[in-house]
Amino acid sequence: MSSDVGTAELFETKARGADTARSNGAELLHSSRGDAAATLFLQKIADASSSATIDASRVAVVVAHPDDETIGCGALLSRLANVTVVLVTDGAPRNGVDALHAGYETPAAYGSARAKELRAALAVAGIGERQIVELGVADQEVCRALSPIARRLASLFERRGTSIVLTHAFEAGHPDHDGVAFCVHAAAGLLAERAPALIEMPFYHLGIDGIATQSFCDGEDEVVVELPASQSAVKAQMMSAHASQAETMVLFGAAVERYRTAKAYDFRSLPNAERAFYSTFDCGFAAQEWAPLAKEALSALSLARIFRL
Ligand SMILES: [Zn+2]
Repeated sequence: MSSDVGTAELFETKARGADTARSNGAELLHSSRGDAAATLFLQKIADASSSATIDASRVAVVVAHPDDETIGCGALLSRLANVTVVLVTDGAPRNGVDALHAGYETPAAYGSARAKELRAALAVAGIGERQIVELGVADQEVCRALSPIARRLASLFERRGTSIVLTHAFEAGHPDHDGVAFCVHAAAGLLAERAPALIEMPFYHLGIDGIATQSFCDGEDEVVVELPASQSAVKAQMMSAHASQAETMVLFGAAVERYRTAKAYDFRSLPNAERAFYSTFDCGFAAQEWAPLAKEALSALSLARIFRL
């Protein structure tokens, strides 16, 4: 049974956002058709007090790292029946630094620990093995493989008849997050009229004085879900399941989740006024690498027309 709550006033800002994107010359072919489907889905999820589950057999959540699914939409996952959760990376950078820091001798051992944590977290939300898809890309290396990942996602969406995708906002918080956002948008571009509608979630970005978490870097909200106590408890339990990420998890809360129709980004330049949070820590990727890699991938995917290059 689906919840169906009419909250049209929540969506008044959407059209204005789309106009802004178009005036910036970054229109995507999938944006107008997808917006209507995204709005319908957002209406369904806006009322978190409803105990009804939502049929999500054609919904995919596509995120970069094990734990992003929990930070972005952990509480929502517990309301989505038959959702598919796609992890692009295994959460284990190949330089072994994070593995050692977490007490694992090799990236492989760290990766398999994170895969177990992911399953424990998703089990809290009632999500089982058959709903999990892992692409197995190395952590910190999404931006080095944008076009093959975009093609894999397009093929996955087509095979599963995916009609809605929830993914990262483009926010220059972590390069893998931006890379996944790019790949999801590019996959939609490849699928053209068969593209799923795209919904985005905020993770973190560089705010005025340091990291800003769980808010969109342009401040434009569409749906802000204040989680009821029961759902907040589910999200907190999922966060605890990612035990190796405890140091990171303290930066995030379990009270609110934010969603909006994905913006039609111009991926050829950095978001957030070109202020990259990932320039403040070593993630194996420099901000100036983004634009050439994005342009190269758009060209390799023959998406120049869609992105009006
Ligand atoms: Zn992440």
